[in-house]
Amino acid sequence: MRLTEKTLYQKYLMRHESKQNRGHKSRDSERLKCYRSEWAFQSAMKQKGMPVPTFANIKEAERFAKKIYKSKTWPRLYAEAGQTDFMNLFRFKRPEVVLKQQSSGRGTNGWTNGSTVTLDKYSGLDAYTLIHELTHCLGHMHHGRSFRKALLRLVGTFLGAEYKKELKAQFRKNKLACGEAKQPLSFEKWKEMRQRMEMIRNGKNN
Ligand SMILES: [Zn+2]
Repeated sequence: MRLTEKTLYQKYLMRHESKQNRGHKSRDSERLKCYRSEWAFQSAMKQKGMPVPTFANIKEAERFAKKIYKSKTWPRLYAEAGQTDFMNLFRFKRPEVVLKQQSSGRGTNGWTNGSTVTLDKYSGLDAYTLIHELTHCLGHMHHGRSFRKALLRLVGTFLGAEYKKELKAQFRKNKLACGEAKQPLSFEKWKEMRQRMEMIRNGKNN
């Protein structure tokens, strides 16, 4: 492997990795598409007569969060995200769920800093908003592939298969991948691809 090729291949690997999970080490460029899919998902479920359950108050939201924390899914997803909390090794992370007293009027239903989930008292007291914010707390502080993958698992487990299916369909409609990340090309395959592209480029220039 020549040095320049080695460097270029390393660059390719880095670019590939960041493309597979946009937002993790790069700009959160799939955020808007993710929101659009979620809005379509919520209205589709309403049309099916299965709207996302709402909470009457913050206590109900806290109860729902506790149910998630006690499940087997929560620590499993936490571990899969590669989160190792040394300060809290034997207790899985349990974000606090609080209510935003005054609505900011900016249309944000919920938000999180990774350890506290804040729900808007007018627009954020529903199970989907809570699950979305809790997924961020699992270590996906963006809306890329790994976020969506974990989100679908939580939705399937705590809302049900119908909800998961619809959300997945909406992600697909918006061309948002939510399965396993694609493997990068091997060095040999990458070299072949580069040669092919070079030939195409040279062909165009002639
Ligand atoms: Zn979000």
